[in-house]
Amino acid sequence: MSELTRLDFEVMDKNDPLAEFRELFELAEGQIYLDGNSLGVLPKATKKRMQEVVEREWGQELIRSWNSSDWINIPRRVGDKIASFIGAKAGEVVICDSTSVNLFKLAAAAVKMNPGKRKIISEPGNFPTDLYILQGLVEFLGDQLELVTVPRDEIEAAIDEDTALVVLTHVHYKTGKLFDMDAITARAQAQGALMLWDLSHSAGAVPVDLNAAGADFAVGCGYKYLNGGPGAPAFLFVAERHHAQARQPLSGWFGHANPFEFSDHYAPAPGIERNLCGTSSVMASSALEVGVDIMASVSQQRLREKSIKLCDLFIELIETRCPEFTILSPRDSSERGSQVSMGHEQGYAIMQALIQRQVIGDFRAPNVLRFGFTPLYVRYVDIWDSVSVLVDIMKNDSWNCEEFKTKTAVT
Ligand SMILES: *Cc1c(COP(=O)(O)O)cnc(C)c1O
Repeated sequence: MSELTRLDFEVMDKNDPLAEFRELFELAEGQIYLDGNSLGVLPKATKKRMQEVVEREWGQELIRSWNSSDWINIPRRVGDKIASFIGAKAGEVVICDSTSVNLFKLAAAAVKMNPGKRKIISEPGNFPTDLYILQGLVEFLGDQLELVTVPRDEIEAAIDEDTALVVLTHVHYKTGKLFDMDAITARAQAQGALMLWDLSHSAGAVPVDLNAAGADFAVGCGYKYLNGGPGAPAFLFVAERHHAQARQPLSGWFGHANPFEFSDHYAPAPGIERNLCGTSSVMASSALEVGVDIMASVSQQRLREKSIKLCDLFIELIETRCPEFTILSPRDSSERGSQVSMGHEQGYAIMQALIQRQVIGDFRAPNVLRFGFTPLYVRYVDIWDSVSVLVDIMKNDSWNCEEFKTKTAVT
């Protein structure tokens, strides 16, 4: 490994079947973007699409666009495209709201479907919003239920007959650790529990097959690997077999069977649309659609192969050239998503020094440097070059100054 040179990485790029996708994205010259797991890059086509939505659909067509530009079906249309690469059927996914709100809606629907059981199981250290939303739901329900957090290797054993719902994030945001979706879903259902997966770090990053796993519910994020733009709408999945029974509590008019009858009484739409609440953000949804179209055009298997190679090469270079860092992500690629996290006491300042040198990752408290590898636009040479910059920063202690130690609001 130590004999590899930059040239080897250039050759890998030449032979990369996904190389041409990079051209579809706006990437500043000289910048190495390893943060697509936090905010995906702008697809070039999104600029043109946004201009069209603003100038023609909104600016000229105005209210007519609900029909003439099919704004009304955006949640379902984009949902069907996402369904195509997460192992769902058309009609099982919609885009709407944020991941947090969708989690609330589906967790509430799920616990209502499973009365008499007291526990919701999740993982300590899950993405904070997942835990916060579940805490809020439990409190709202007057503490009929209890949120129990169990370390990841004890989860299967902890799921029992008193478990109403299991909520887990498939790829952990901080460590990149991957749960065995099939095994945990099967275990939950064998005990009579429902299973809700958060796919925020999975959709577009690792192959997901919700229906093969028999998942009941899922939510996920639009602005990470799907490149939907900051604050893009999220998505939600409800397995078709639950469509009739699952009643989410935010029964807004867009979830009504006939919103334009303006009836006084709520009657849920028969299909996945009952999980909508209010009017879609049309501009944000239109931007997300461009990113989703790109993702839907790629082989998830090819993406996974490149992602594994990028992560493995990065880990090996770090281990040989920067051994002072502790690799926190699993080395076995079958247990890892599309990111590599590593620990260092001075992690925050080191990341700031990297960012100043145009290598963009992020930092997660207390000491984690996080690098996301998005195979659509990260090149093999980016792996070589980012590690070389890091080696240089460490050799010269260039992280060691006040400027890099002062924390900003968003890390
Ligand atoms: C990014 C992320 C979210 C985002 O939630 P929002 O409500 O869209 O801000 C939720 N869950 C996980 C696991 C995430 O990584």
